[in-house]
Amino acid sequence: MGRGFVNWSGSLSFTPGEYAEPADEDEVRALVRRAREAGTTVRPVGSGHSSSPLVRTDGILLSLDRLAGVIADDGELATAWAGTKLKALGEGLYDAGLAMDNLGDVDYQSIAGATATGTHGTGLGFGNLSTQVTGVRLVTGTGETVDVSAEHNSDLLPAARLSLGALGVVTRVTLDVQPRYELRRRSWCAHVDWTLDHLAELQHTNRNMDFYWYPRSDQTQIRVMNRVDRAPDERVWQPRLVPGEAFPGEPGEVRVGPTHRTIPRHRELRFEEIEYMLPAEAFAACFAEVRRRIRQRHRRVVGWRVLVRSIAADDIWLSNAYGRPTVTIACLQNTSLPYEEYFRDMEAVFRHYGGRPHWGKKHWLTARDLRPLYPRWDDFQAVRRRLDPDGVFLSRDLARLLEEA
Ligand SMILES: Cc1cc2nc3c(=O)[nH]c(=O)nc-3n(C[C@H](O)[C@H](O)[C@H](O)COP(=O)(O)OP(=O)(O)OC[C@H]3O[C@@H](n4cnc5c(N)ncnc54)[C@H](O)[C@@H]3O)c2cc1C
Repeated sequence: MGRGFVNWSGSLSFTPGEYAEPADEDEVRALVRRAREAGTTVRPVGSGHSSSPLVRTDGILLSLDRLAGVIADDGELATAWAGTKLKALGEGLYDAGLAMDNLGDVDYQSIAGATATGTHGTGLGFGNLSTQVTGVRLVTGTGETVDVSAEHNSDLLPAARLSLGALGVVTRVTLDVQPRYELRRRSWCAHVDWTLDHLAELQHTNRNMDFYWYPRSDQTQIRVMNRVDRAPDERVWQPRLVPGEAFPGEPGEVRVGPTHRTIPRHRELRFEEIEYMLPAEAFAACFAEVRRRIRQRHRRVVGWRVLVRSIAADDIWLSNAYGRPTVTIACLQNTSLPYEEYFRDMEAVFRHYGGRPHWGKKHWLTARDLRPLYPRWDDFQAVRRRLDPDGVFLSRDLARLLEEA
């Protein structure tokens, strides 16, 4: 038996048949071949921050923790071992004078795990982290190594940039990077009505903007980030967001620093989360319905906050921002409180407005529900069957997600 696994939030625990931490790509290949011969499932795991059961297996749980660090860069592209944690990746890139274009709320995830589920930050001009992936090296279900990039096997790229660990074990990730730069982050509190009234302007005048809504008080915490070296952004720091209107409250926290130290936060309180990606044009009506339902049905059990972010459209087949500018709504709930009834009710609202679930967070969708949401769903499945003909990576949970019964 392998050692027991518990995810970050504590809601997913299991004991795999075996736990493996290969030291190099040869060991990864050998392990996949052995599993294939034995008819065993392999599930790659990153930092265990997903709460959907993507990594659950009674076969081999494979961690690339020993394959970590930046391998090389040419100033525009950087290649890292797949097990590199985002924090270490940020520091490694910074030392090389580089930075990623955007990041999510925390930096605990591995680069392979984060991009495998389309982890995202916020900003109208920024896709999710998978859009920064320009290439990967995969150990496929037959134990072969396949390099995927614009130059090699480019037909696989729209599937391999976000693959849920269903195409193989990613051992290396190549990313589009920028010369490093500094961001200034500010946050302040406002009423939710003010925030919604000014949302479009806040989104358009800031590089990155998101807000937390606290259902019990109807207050929001607005967070904006801009490059310190881009002067035009300065206008949004002044209390004149809209001419003639008062600034809603005093600006709160101000923080300046390089991207990887400014965007992610430290999270100590554990929480469960459901997040759906909505077509941007559906956000206003969807949020109004979320507000109404929380007030009517869930106010007593809702212990925390609701997060709203934006993501640019992309062309990655299983990306939940595929083909459409996206606004996301995430409901967070302290792990000490019940979440399922609340989240399921929110899921019904999100689905009504055409939402697609975050792959790594709580949701109750199966392949039958998901297929109509993704125009290139069948293309992804064809690539998956080609690279993993015997279903080495297809655990029961993944089969439910990817194969219609
Ligand atoms: C506190 C917290 C904050 C978060 N903040 C955000 C946020 O701001 N934005 C957002 O979008 N999401 C966020 N998430 C969700 C999180 O980013 C995703 O669930 C992410 O996939 C977790 O990465 P991980 O390294 O922990 O991977 P895991 O959860 O361990 O695995 C996720 C997926 O990656 C696959 N995988 C891992 N390694 C490999 C590999 N080497 N090869 C192939 N497949 C692999 C796994 O098989 C699985 O399918 C947050 C989660 C938590 C708990």
